[in-house]
Amino acid sequence: MLRRTFLATPILAAAAPDDTPRVDYHAHPEHEMTVDKALAISRERNVKLGLVEHAGAKESPTSHRLSTDDELLRWIAALKGKPVYCGIQAEGMDWHRHFSKPVIAQLDYVLGDALTMPDRSGNLIKLWTPAFQTSNPQDFMDRYVDYHIEVMARQPLDILANPTFLPTPLQPDAARLWTAPRMTKIIDAAKKYNVAIEINTKYQVPAMPFLEMAKGAGIQFSFGSNAHDAAAIGEISFCVDTWRKLRLPASRFFRPAPAGRKPIQLRTLA
Ligand SMILES: [Zn+2]
Repeated sequence: MLRRTFLATPILAAAAPDDTPRVDYHAHPEHEMTVDKALAISRERNVKLGLVEHAGAKESPTSHRLSTDDELLRWIAALKGKPVYCGIQAEGMDWHRHFSKPVIAQLDYVLGDALTMPDRSGNLIKLWTPAFQTSNPQDFMDRYVDYHIEVMARQPLDILANPTFLPTPLQPDAARLWTAPRMTKIIDAAKKYNVAIEINTKYQVPAMPFLEMAKGAGIQFSFGSNAHDAAAIGEISFCVDTWRKLRLPASRFFRPAPAGRKPIQLRTLA
């Protein structure tokens, strides 16, 4: 009896289920990707999806961005009863002013990023496009860090997406440009405003030093592919590998806040 118990224990421990999360909170049903196709991929890959539509002021009359309560309610209704999370990707500092609070609160979550940032003249620049230029990377970095803080301070976000992404010309210098004080400022803001940090497949960010600091600060993490094509939606291998390297318990994985506890309901916004 004793011997059997002794042998059984380690076998059971080895067979314990892996509690690594399998959720992609940053999947876009756009271009060729439909909700039904995304659901099929979710089943195939055994990854739960959080589908996000872009929401905020329309950039042009033909923009697909959700910008009214009616449009947001249609999006929420489209996913009702389906095995996915329903979210939005926030666009513009004032996105939440386009909707009423009770409607925003019906979403599972809101993610946003700092990738559309004003240049020195105030023109909004999409940092992932060739429109980005700088002759002074250090000055850009200081403004970029401040902009991250502004994004989290002024918007009721659940998740900071694409964190520490750098424009292509600066990527070779990422390790030098992301100094400890710069990383600390972003992590302090995420902690202060209770925003989860996305581990992002598309840009393979953040790097381990940032993630270790965020882990130490007690921050929650989410996974995001930031994809809309069949090959990349639900592709979370990078996130899973990173999660395992960080040795995080399941309790540190982001989960949508319950009703009544959403950022739009809890935050006082300037
Ligand atoms: Zn996105």
